[in-house]
Amino acid sequence: MPSKREVKVRGLGIGGGNPIRVQTMTSTRTEDPEATLAQIERLVEAGAELVRVAVQSRAAVKFFKEIREGTDVPLIADVHYDAKIAVMAIEAGADKIRINPGNIRGEVDEVIAAAKANGVPIRIGVNSGSLELELVDKYGGVKPEALVESAVRWVRYFEKRGFEDIVVSVKSSSVPQTIRAYRLLARQVDYPLHLGLTEAGPPWPGSLKSAIAIGSLLADGIGDTIRVSLTGDPVEEVKVAWEILKALELRARGPLLISCPTCGRVRVDNFFEIVSEVQRALEGVKKPIKVAVMGCEVNGPGEAAEADVGVAFGRGFALIFKKGRPVRRVKPEEAVEALLEEVRCLQS
Ligand code: SF4
Repeated sequence: MPSKREVKVRGLGIGGGNPIRVQTMTSTRTEDPEATLAQIERLVEAGAELVRVAVQSRAAVKFFKEIREGTDVPLIADVHYDAKIAVMAIEAGADKIRINPGNIRGEVDEVIAAAKANGVPIRIGVNSGSLELELVDKYGGVKPEALVESAVRWVRYFEKRGFEDIVVSVKSSSVPQTIRAYRLLARQVDYPLHLGLTEAGPPWPGSLKSAIAIGSLLADGIGDTIRVSLTGDPVEEVKVAWEILKALELRARGPLLISCPTCGRVRVDNFFEIVSEVQRALEGVKKPIKVAVMGCEVNGPGEAAEADVGVAFGRGFALIFKKGRPVRRVKPEEAVEALLEEVRCLQS
């Protein structure tokens, strides 16, 4: 049930058959536009297509405006509690607004009117941490059904006011709850869905949990834009998001490295170092390319031949493959350089 509707954010299409978009959120202080813009530059370099910035007070709006003027990437203003901040952020040039209407004090209608007048989409971002208490009571806790009821109720509220430039999310920090909530939501609305597991945790467990939650939904065909939330450098969030999309073969960007786990048959002693060296060398590669590094001649040649470029180690030699065919036989210590030469050749 991929969304049939499309929302445009500074010209970037979300939903309606567009590629799944990668977004993240800055972790710098919005009151420090210089640091925030420097971080945005790193995020865009890593592959962020939309960037969200917290606008936590009316005083912060002027800094948000400065940030807006300093970058071309679509910028989303993340606003809680105060409707007036959302209106001010729209007037300051926000390309999209994220609010949880259930925790907005003041007139949601004013936010809708300002968004409509300025052609700015709104994400109705329901979150397990800020769900309306009445729904928590009704469902006996923060349940997926409660998140979805809140989101759908607000979607209908916006529609009644003639506003359909909507993206919806129902995030939870629980993987099963997130999966269930989005599956329920996808049956009830056809607006673009923003996927994410909120407060997923530190990079290692957080990446795994995000991959399970977001990956399960994307594999079902649910979701139009994703954000991985990690306690750490948001650049890592962007990298993990791209790895999820690449693993599901939904999008291609840069290298996809395949390497074997090794076993008793591995033909070189320093196989892990070899893989790390290849991984580091591929970091700057922008064009999609599948690279395989395999430890022996059992599964090695098959996997290496499936990749654009690959290497399979034998006893005292390494076979280099390109586009499915063996092209060179080199000494093991020459294998990394020979592999990278073939990568460069395909990239040029
Ligand atoms: Fe073991 Fe060879 Fe498979 Fe690597 S490719 S896991 S060394 S059998």
